[in-house]
Amino acid sequence: MTGVFQQSFDQVVEECREVAGLGLSAVILFGLPETKDPKGTSSLLANGVVQRAVEAIKKANLNLLVLTDVCLCEYTDHGHCGVIENGEIVNDATLEILAEQALSHARAGADIVAPSDMMDGRVAAIRKKLDANGFAEVAILSYAAKYCSAFYGPFREAAQSAPQFGDRRSYQMDPANVREALKEVALDLEEGADIVMVKPAVAYLDVIRAVRERFDVPVGAYNVSGEYTMVKAAAQKGWLNEKRTVLEILTSIQRAGADIILTYHAKDAAKWLKA
Ligand SMILES: [Zn+2]
Repeated sequence: MTGVFQQSFDQVVEECREVAGLGLSAVILFGLPETKDPKGTSSLLANGVVQRAVEAIKKANLNLLVLTDVCLCEYTDHGHCGVIENGEIVNDATLEILAEQALSHARAGADIVAPSDMMDGRVAAIRKKLDANGFAEVAILSYAAKYCSAFYGPFREAAQSAPQFGDRRSYQMDPANVREALKEVALDLEEGADIVMVKPAVAYLDVIRAVRERFDVPVGAYNVSGEYTMVKAAAQKGWLNEKRTVLEILTSIQRAGADIILTYHAKDAAKWLKA
């Protein structure tokens, strides 16, 4: 992905220092483990890749919230977001692993954990696990409305997390469905989510708006990799003015009702808005 890089531990701290200096308020970490297995067990290690990065960033004492992606797809050899039995994703066996993963992130110092897997009941499982272990103050940002989207392609390449067979249709939502998004958001809030996220953002502005109007909680929107690379590619060809296009897109996401925007354009936008 143009302009997006995997980072080592010392690089990630320097990157975060720059990010904080630009006035951005938060970062989210996605892990690229050394080993993958069917159950994604490398995601639970206290000295795992995300856990160590969180510790390093927190130790640097930057004015930054640290969020962590909670999911299995980066850690499983099959690339799915859950455990597999007989060729199917098993929801309940996945929940315990996700909850343990979230707890290990909290122990490392994460401020907010962000489950992105879309398994049923994962917010409740994570909340219960965090509370039982003294991490009631760690917040949950749930990917409540995550659509099965073609726009995730570039991220999966970058994070080496493309499913090795099948697709994620059994646990991600149908792009044509808005009401299901509202149902998923309501369920996640009942289970204890503090912030709900809609993903992707640009092709789903109406969903962001619908969530904003129905629920009185912070709404996040994930301006995903495909949305980002389309702009980047067109700008590189001289077909679009990158700065104007990006700021217009981010404005439209905010106008739709997002309080929080997760975007690969963040550093550029912060620089442009500062200038
Ligand atoms: Zn996943």
